[in-house]
Amino acid sequence: MTECIFCKIIAGEIPCSKLYEDEHIFAFLDIAPVTPGHTLVVPKHHCRNLFDIPEQILQDCALAIKKIGTAVKIGMRAEGLNVGMNNEGVAGQVVFHAHFHLIPRYPDDGLRHWLNGKYKEGEEVHAQEKITAELQ
Ligand code: AMP
Ligand code: ZN
Repeated sequence: MTECIFCKIIAGEIPCSKLYEDEHIFAFLDIAPVTPGHTLVVPKHHCRNLFDIPEQILQDCALAIKKIGTAVKIGMRAEGLNVGMNNEGVAGQVVFHAHFHLIPRYPDDGLRHWLNGKYKEGEEVHAQEKITAELQ
């Protein structure tokens, strides 16, 4: 996948502030950090996002997120850490090579979470039925 910017970073064709690499995982600082230390954990295997990532590679990512996320939190003297993944453009995905954002959190860092909504009559049970039907 030669046109993929993250594949190029992993291959060393584009520079980055590298943090970690093993057989399956690559991690580097996000070039436009939400907060200082904002890290991207990326599988070396090219895939688009959550919907096509192979399960074994997702497991590798999960373990790397714990290891690297702990280092980011402690190293950056952060008080907390958000882990996020944007899947498809409507959800904010811009780079279509699966990746996880590790965002260190500091007191009064200004980052606001999404706004919580409220279900209309019947919407919650509708959502529950539609999702559980897919899980059968
Ligand atoms: P997403 O919106 O989830 O697809 O996030 C893509 C992220 O990749 C953004 O936070 C960008 O700032 C980051 N990004 C894009 N290009 C680079 C790059 N060359 N080096 C580091 N981070 C990058
Ligand atoms: Zn790629």
